[in-house]
Amino acid sequence: MYQIIDGKAISTSLKEELKEKVTALKEQGIEPCLAVILVGEDPASTVYVNNKKKACEFIGIKSLSYELPETTTQDELLALIEKLNADDSVNGILVQLPLPKHIDEDAVIGAISPLKDVDGFHPQSVGSLCIGRKGFVSCTPAGIIELLKRSNVEIEGKECVIIGRSNIVGKPMALLMLRENATVTVCHSRTKNLKEVAKRADILIVAIGKPKMITAEYVKEGAVVIDVGIHRLEGKKLCGDVDFDDVAPHTSAITPVPGGVGPMTIAMLMKNCVDSVIFE
Ligand code: NAD
Repeated sequence: MYQIIDGKAISTSLKEELKEKVTALKEQGIEPCLAVILVGEDPASTVYVNNKKKACEFIGIKSLSYELPETTTQDELLALIEKLNADDSVNGILVQLPLPKHIDEDAVIGAISPLKDVDGFHPQSVGSLCIGRKGFVSCTPAGIIELLKRSNVEIEGKECVIIGRSNIVGKPMALLMLRENATVTVCHSRTKNLKEVAKRADILIVAIGKPKMITAEYVKEGAVVIDVGIHRLEGKKLCGDVDFDDVAPHTSAITPVPGGVGPMTIAMLMKNCVDSVIFE
């Protein structure tokens, strides 16, 4: 029988722990503060931002909300980031992506102080992760490490195959698994013999963006499977990049969609916010 890795329960415990930490910090007169910037009115981004604000409220992190019109210029946005960088009462700065097309995302990410880069997207944060220095780590991959550890999945020495090489999931995931002493292979859209490579994995992490693409043929018997994908099917049901019903009986543990990786992303953002206080 396989174990279902319960991201909802694990993220709830993590948030409870963070709440206790924040209460202790407040007793010392320290109040973590996250500035959240949203440009435009993209409905999905609005939902994400509201969920982040709710999580801050639950944990006791002060959140400052900047909801800017779609017409905001890049210079105006950069000026706001500059102001927040210089504000000692702000520990973390989050700019919700994607930004409107007339704004250069790289310029905006690069303008956030690495000391306040709670999303872990700044090139300095990525570089620090690469060479094992202290810095913020992208929330989804960091959440997956937390899921594995809290589910007692051993990582050291294991064959880990990651499918997907995006900057926010696949690449930082590979670096984190290396840091945990796994043997890491990264696959992508040009990988040949994907099934054979994926079948080598003791731990298979899938971040492709293709609904139910990974079937049992890609999975070694007894592997641990982590599904990062999230898709809304007709009828509004959610599914991942992994065909759960086909794959699960062949695994020793697997994350469901919803309720697997998803809830960990916000919980890790909150962890980064709390950690940002000690980065000062
Ligand atoms: P992306 O589109 O940036 O990257 C997809 C990667 O998959 C690419 O590296 C590409 O080479 C690879 N790929 C595409 N087709 C492939 C194929 N046929 N075979 C092998 N590799 C293939 O996507 P992303 O931002 O990394 O996100 C991936 C999925 O994870 C999406 O469904 C996204 O919605 C989801 N996601 C979920 C969370 C969360 O919190 N749960 C966070 C981020 C992303």
